[in-house]
Amino acid sequence: TLILAIETSCDETAAAVIRDGREICANVVATQMESHARFGGVVPEVASRHHVEVMTRVVEEAMEKAKVTFSDLTAIAVTEGPGLVGALLVGIHAAKALAFAHGIPLIGVHHIAGHIYANQLVEPLAYPLLALVVSGGHTELIYMKKDGQFETVGETRDDAVGEAYDKVARALSLPYPGGPNVEKLAKEADTAIKLPRAWLEAGSYDFSFSGLKSAVLNRLHNDRQKGIETDLPALARGFQESVIDVLTVKTARAVQTYEVKQVVLAGGVAANHTLRKALKTALADTGAALSIPPLSLCTDNAAMIGAAAHSMWVHGCTSDMALNGRPGLSLRSFE
Ligand code: ATP
Ligand code: FE
Ligand code: MG
Repeated sequence: TLILAIETSCDETAAAVIRDGREICANVVATQMESHARFGGVVPEVASRHHVEVMTRVVEEAMEKAKVTFSDLTAIAVTEGPGLVGALLVGIHAAKALAFAHGIPLIGVHHIAGHIYANQLVEPLAYPLLALVVSGGHTELIYMKKDGQFETVGETRDDAVGEAYDKVARALSLPYPGGPNVEKLAKEADTAIKLPRAWLEAGSYDFSFSGLKSAVLNRLHNDRQKGIETDLPALARGFQESVIDVLTVKTARAVQTYEVKQVVLAGGVAANHTLRKALKTALADTGAALSIPPLSLCTDNAAMIGAAAHSMWVHGCTSDMALNGRPGLSLRSFE
């Protein structure tokens, strides 16, 4: 198959051309990071407007780089949800218009399925597998018995990991985007300020990060009241250690229970080097292989949407012209 994929769920306008769900022929990402940095976060209205401005150019660039024409395409894939509705609609309208004009099948893809299938652009996925999805809006452990089947093993009950990173970054007066900056600050620490770990009930694979975020805020507040200067790198490191400890321990335990062949790390927080290293160590004795996408495929991109769309196409899952943006879309098996 040859699939043109479009992704506009948040603040990245992206288009890619993917062959057989494995090979990247082109992967173009236009980021709006700078436009949102001055607001300290993504402003939905600004995001939609940016998408409209660059959508056409990004698609053209992807098609040119891949050296393909529309008549070569098997299908056009686009992120259906979840995400910002205004942002999603820009990509969806572009995909629908192109699919209609050229008579090409349309495939609506779940954004998180995309993050998981990003790993397929690195190596073939080995089932059964466990995906640890850690992004700005999601923190989930997903079991895949086979291609196209998703079963949620555990999920966050409050904040997503990336969200917690971004909120802690704000509390530490670090610039947007928070995640990478918290990681950078933590690297400067000599020690870590020990913070609580939310293990929840025995045996639970769920997560919770809002208590940890509050612990960071409380520490800053209490120190300020006492006139103590907080060791900020040590606080950042303490936060990160708590997050990574819980993520890796729960993932390693799920690997034993579900007897998986492979663990794939997915989502924007997968760009975190400390997490990548800790997960590698935690899984070393489990016998499960670990797959981590390169940084460019961790954060939002359209290549991952094309990879997931290939599997959907193989299973006969296509969309019609009623395809619409679905901000709260849940991940459903397509097999
Ligand atoms: P979702 O995929 O759930 O819809 P999203 O698309 O906004 O959410 P991504 O783009 O996948 O999320 O990831 C962005 C998140 O990843 C942000 O919260 C950002 O702070 C976080 N992040 C990026 N790099 C790092 C890093 N090195 N360490 C920690 N967090 C990081
Ligand atoms: Fe994402
Ligand atoms: Mg993003």
